[in-house]
This record gives sequence, structure tokens and C-alpha cells, in this order.
Amino acid sequence: MKKLIIEVRINEYAMRDENPHVPWTPDEIGREAREIQEAGASIVHFHARAADGSPAHGLEDYAAPIRAIRANSDLMINPTLGQITKGGKLERISHIEAFAHDHILKPEIVGLDPGSTNIDIFDQQNRRFVTDGKVYVNAHETLIAFTERFRALGIKPALACWSIPFLRSAAALMDMELVAEPGYFLFVHGEGGQLGGHPATAEGLRAYTDHLPKNRQSEWAVCCKSGNLFPIALSAIAQGGHIAIGIGDYAYPELDYPTNAHLVREIVKLAKTVGREVATPAEARGILGIRPRS
Ligand code: ZN
Repeated sequence: MKKLIIEVRINEYAMRDENPHVPWTPDEIGREAREIQEAGASIVHFHARAADGSPAHGLEDYAAPIRAIRANSDLMINPTLGQITKGGKLERISHIEAFAHDHILKPEIVGLDPGSTNIDIFDQQNRRFVTDGKVYVNAHETLIAFTERFRALGIKPALACWSIPFLRSAAALMDMELVAEPGYFLFVHGEGGQLGGHPATAEGLRAYTDHLPKNRQSEWAVCCKSGNLFPIALSAIAQGGHIAIGIGDYAYPELDYPTNAHLVREIVKLAKTVGREVATPAEARGILGIRPRS
């Protein structure tokens, strides 16, 4: 079986009240990159943050962590597009455009969510929504504009699918030759009141794998927002999928609030139990069809 790619979702917008190990300054992110690569990771996904941890979207807010990651590792870099915290359309990729011709700053991968979904958290205990108006909107018009730019810039989109219609739109973008093979799909699961993705169950995962485009080469990874990924991790690994995990998504009280590197080591152990080896960053590039860094 092909080697396992481990992508680490190091921070998202998590603060340190639950898990104190969430990195966000450039120095912290650089150190994190070194540690997770040593543990077995090949891709790092990060959100740019201000010194107090709040969301930040200035060019330097993105550039400084990228420089730190490059200085400390060979990891492929997947920065966020600023999700709903930043303005509309092409402004969301202005940092990617700005870095695309810089050898150090150009990212290998950029997340793209080919669909729209409600992202309010439901508080099960109190039977109420924490917020009730949050919609993550990605119109086809936006997706076409983004994928046209990524194709022109030579940056691979990670197709983050929250449900089956996202997969169908991703397949359409592949049919339009806006996304090259192999498609890199991220199957988003949601727990802890995050209702916008599939449950992190065998059935939730199976629905995704059943709907991968049949006539296309694709690689896929699983993540879980606001919940534990381990209930489906072994199954994903045994089926040839990849893993995207991190304390940015979930604090992991089950593992006593671990570091990201600790989570990676746990995934490497799981992979060993089914005889699957872990890809180096160079091998992960090969699997995803991304050119080596010269
Ligand atoms: Zn993210």
C-alpha cells in the first residue's frame, strides 16, 4: 500500500484555555514544524494569528510563520484562506497571489472548500445553538475563480469536503480541468456539536469513500472538527486514506491534552499495526504529484 501522508492542523483558531500547547507565534510555529516532521508528518496546515492569538490576515502574518516553517523543516505548507473571517472572493487568496513568485513563501497546497454549509455549534447539553447565523459560503463562481488562479500559479488545492455535494462539485471542477489529478480530498467530519460535516463514524467515512469520483485518480485524507479523529483513523489508514489531525481541531482530553507531535506519533503507531509506512515530505510530494523544491 502507498505510504501514509500525515498532515497536521496545528492551530486553527483554538486558544490555549483547553490545550496549552496550541502554537501561534512564528517562533512557536517554526518549532512545531520541526517537532511534527521528526514525529512523521509531511504537511503542516496553519492559521495566521496575532500575538494575542486572534485571527490575523496581513501579508506578514502569513509570511513570518512560512519562513519559520521553511527554516525548520521540509514540510509542505498549507496555509488557510482566512475562511469567513476575511472579506469575499479574491481577497481571500490575496496572500497566496502575493507569495506565488517567492521561492520561500510560495505554499505547495491551499485548502479549498467546494461547497457551502452551516457551521454553528450545537450545544447538546443545553439544547441550543451557540450561534445560529454562521454560514460558510463558497459559490461556484468563487470556486472557479480560485481554482483558475491556483492552476495558473501551480498550487495544489486540498479539496475540503463537508458532505457529498462538495465531492460532486469537486468532481465537476476536475471535469472542467481546473483541478489536476490526483485530486487531494479532505473528508471533513464534525463532532462536539459541529453539525456541518459527517459524523466521525464508519458510516460517515464510508459515505465519502463511496462517492469519490470513479473515473479519477484521487488521494483522500480524514479530519475531525471539534472531536476525536481516532475512532475512524485506523479504518481510514487501512483503506489507503491519509490523516489530517491536530490540536487545532480538538484539544484531545482523552490523551491528556497532548502536543501535535504526540498526536502524530500516535498515528504512526496505528499505521504500524496495519503494516502501513509513513511518507516523508519528499515521498508525500510524489504521492500528490507536487514537484520537489529545488
Ligand atoms: Zn484550518
